[in-house]
Amino acid sequence: MKLHEYQAKEIFKKFGIPVPSGKIAASGDDAFKAARELKGPPWVVKAQVHAGGRGKGGGVRVVKSPDEAKTAAKEILDNPLVTKQTGPEGKKVHQVLVEEGVEIDREFYLAVVIDRSLARPVVIFSQAGGMEIEEVAARTPELVLKQFVDPKAGWMPFQARALAYAIDPLPGPEALKVLMALMGNLYRLFIAHDCSLAEINPLVITKQGKVLAVDAKMNIDDNGLARQKEIARLDDEREKDPLEAKAAEHNLNYIRLNGNIGAMVNGAGLAMATMDVIKLAGAEPANFLDVGGGASEEMVTRGLEIILEDKNVRAILINIFGGILRCDVLARGVLAAAEKTAIKVPLIVRLEGTNVEEGRKILQGSRLKFMVAKDIAEAAQMVTQQVRRSA
Ligand code: GDP
Ligand code: MN
Repeated sequence: MKLHEYQAKEIFKKFGIPVPSGKIAASGDDAFKAARELKGPPWVVKAQVHAGGRGKGGGVRVVKSPDEAKTAAKEILDNPLVTKQTGPEGKKVHQVLVEEGVEIDREFYLAVVIDRSLARPVVIFSQAGGMEIEEVAARTPELVLKQFVDPKAGWMPFQARALAYAIDPLPGPEALKVLMALMGNLYRLFIAHDCSLAEINPLVITKQGKVLAVDAKMNIDDNGLARQKEIARLDDEREKDPLEAKAAEHNLNYIRLNGNIGAMVNGAGLAMATMDVIKLAGAEPANFLDVGGGASEEMVTRGLEIILEDKNVRAILINIFGGILRCDVLARGVLAAAEKTAIKVPLIVRLEGTNVEEGRKILQGSRLKFMVAKDIAEAAQMVTQQVRRSA
């Protein structure tokens, strides 16, 4: 689960990480009022959306008056924001954060993530902040420093010194002290809230010598949400893919992808294998959907409805190996969905396993048009042909 910048900054404050004063606004008028109540000029108006690279996409504006704040907020709220991470269609912005602008002297990068190969948290620091860290790592890898943390011992002061004293030229002693304390604070926040990422880019020293987290990013490990109840409440449904949100409501494991072949499969392993054969046959899956071993007729219906709602889908492949999910249950679910939504794209079915005869009979006895594949490879060939034909 991802947090908005303004939500992460509230949590930062609780962990002693200084952030600029700010207020959230959902309209131009709100932004005007917020600027009036905050110290300025300048102010900064920032799109609150689950995507990075807002600065380059016009989602971060430095303004000189409350009127300008209003105009900037309106522009951001009225147009989809396009950044490197949103895709060309962009994302709707529902709120902006209005903050007291700061005069930046130096920009650093600081983050905590999990290093999977070493199975421990790693604190990443760079004095080349403000830019994308991937770019810094590619161009000047010597400027990206890492400290791996033994989770039992926790963050150690010597590790903070190793990162901070490598800064060239060295900041003044006061700023240095705050920077080092802040590293430990971010590490504690990361652990306390089951984060998969806690990132500050840029972490700045202002012209006045103050250390501030100008940006804030926190991703929470979904497996930790059960014990992060306060955080779970901050989840912004509006940021989710509508089809993925609908699937989650029905306990379906659905992930939207970029291709045009909808796939409904039972079992995550078979679903992965099905995606592989679709790709091998030269096409691209539109989704991953595992309806689960114990899926009900209702879940099969919902799953198919979700696939049909995806406008990119040009053919559907149903690949079921009936075990606990019996083929007759699947067949009835498919028919129920077909009754509600006309299926206008070719449907290819591959059924095997428990009650397969009954399942086939149900499908054949219906008015539903579909093609039967004898195995998974043939099924993939067939959908690929169908998509090519309709192209
Ligand atoms: P991101 O592009 O989505 O990562 O958004 P950021 O919050 O990092 O903002 C992008 C850039 O805007 C930062 O790297 C800063 O250079 C600039 N910026 C943000 N806040 C301020 C501010 O208060 N004053 C000034 N001068 N620049 C700012
Ligand atoms: Mn940033």
